[in-house]
Amino acid sequence: MAEFVGAIDQGTTSTRFMLFNHSGEEVAKAQLEHEQILPQAGWVEHDPIEVWERTRTVIEQALQRAGLTGRDVAALGITNQRETTVVWDPRTGRPFGNAIVWQDTRTDRIASALEREGKGEVIRRKAGLPPATYFSGGKIQWILDNVDGAREAAESGEAVFGTMDTWVLWNLSGGTNGGVHATDVTNASRTMLMNLETLDWDDELLGFFGIPRRMLPQIRPSGYHYADTVAGGPMGAEVPIAGMLGDQQGATVGQVCFSPGEGKNTYGTGNFFLLNTGTEAVPSESGLLTTMGYQFAGGEAIYCLEGAIAVTGSAVQWLRDQLGLIRSAEESETLAKQVDDTGNMYFVPAFSGLFAPYWRSDARGVMVGLSRFHTKEHVARAVLESICYQTKDVAEAMAKDSGVELEFLKVDGGAVVNDTLMQMQADILGTPVARPQVAETTALGSAYAAGLATGFWNNLDELRENWQEDKRWQPQWSADQREAGYAGWKKAVERTFDWVD
Ligand code: ADP
Repeated sequence: MAEFVGAIDQGTTSTRFMLFNHSGEEVAKAQLEHEQILPQAGWVEHDPIEVWERTRTVIEQALQRAGLTGRDVAALGITNQRETTVVWDPRTGRPFGNAIVWQDTRTDRIASALEREGKGEVIRRKAGLPPATYFSGGKIQWILDNVDGAREAAESGEAVFGTMDTWVLWNLSGGTNGGVHATDVTNASRTMLMNLETLDWDDELLGFFGIPRRMLPQIRPSGYHYADTVAGGPMGAEVPIAGMLGDQQGATVGQVCFSPGEGKNTYGTGNFFLLNTGTEAVPSESGLLTTMGYQFAGGEAIYCLEGAIAVTGSAVQWLRDQLGLIRSAEESETLAKQVDDTGNMYFVPAFSGLFAPYWRSDARGVMVGLSRFHTKEHVARAVLESICYQTKDVAEAMAKDSGVELEFLKVDGGAVVNDTLMQMQADILGTPVARPQVAETTALGSAYAAGLATGFWNNLDELRENWQEDKRWQPQWSADQREAGYAGWKKAVERTFDWVD
């Protein structure tokens, strides 16, 4: 019997492949970055062919390093950067241009026109999302409107759409040779095109964007036998692809947030706070998204409230790559630790507007409260604090919309190795923060979905037992300190508004 479940994590900056054992422990891993293509201000693209090649390579590398083959793998899960949009010709596998990445703001006019024309309310009500550049619908429309031949091809079945889960699935299951064209409910819920009640593409929403239904993938549960990998592909064997989940939903499952009121916050390029609301889609009045959480094989659809923050870890990358203030992300901690506070200075990284809970595309970044006294140590600290304050904004919105006060916050993602950041988070929230032993919760979640669908795991309790705490941070600030700090942050956020049209 195959002893492992595999997971592909097709992320924004890199693609990883991991193998997990029955206890949910990672036994093998390989990871490769891909190019961030930035053709002009506000545009972010990935080359889908490069991404697929990297996916192949990391699978082969991880199997080889572990001395295993595809026959040792019981099932395969796929998790992915959400919303990133690729359109390709299923007869040739050739994409219609690069993938448009979730952070890309080229569709801001499409988003604001929807709002102006009164369609925003319909999108909120049916899809649970505010019109924004973030989601896939506008990106598909942009490709159909701007790439030569794309619209005619889409109408005649010669151009199909997918998010990265769909692109990877299609390629793994045979590509031009019978590749399966499908997505899961969580990824579909990020397009502005899926109706949260019917879990199907909605004709009225498709009409808003002029998107032909026939170019869209089939929507399936997150746990579902989608296809088998082809023996000639990187797995080298036929392995059931039985789990697909958007990355943040993957982390929610990997953190075993299976009961209403349980949630997690992921610290990566951006931050994503998801709270399980059970079988009920809770509409947000506080600037959160209503989104799919997961749907396991044979199970009910579970919904989440989500606070999506565009720029958190990427502000640390900005310190490194654009300002050259640090040489590595870890150095942000070394610098920040050298000062006790920011000297009443705030940094708000509204680089691509502000997402939750503000949804202001007119916002741009600010650093306020500067004086001659301030040093790069203060700047590093303010950048880390901005990650925590943005999370505080979202946590407040969560409490308002759901009435749930979290006892402690489960965290994961690339930046939670930063202990100083985690202590700041506990201080600013006034809530303990807990980090699990398995850092790769995103991949683990898709492995769980695939393993549940194929009988590798039998029930949710087995998965709950796999969750082990690594470290917990207790709040140390006084209530006054917390209040004063947060009041300053709110003032700083206001300074970002009305900067661009
Ligand atoms: P993604 O899956 O979004 O590509 P990851 O979960 O791999 O991202 O996290 C990478 C992000 O975490 C980067 O933006 C990086 O700047 C940030 N990061 C990594 N290590 C640290 C650190 N020690 N302190 C602060 N931020 C960090």
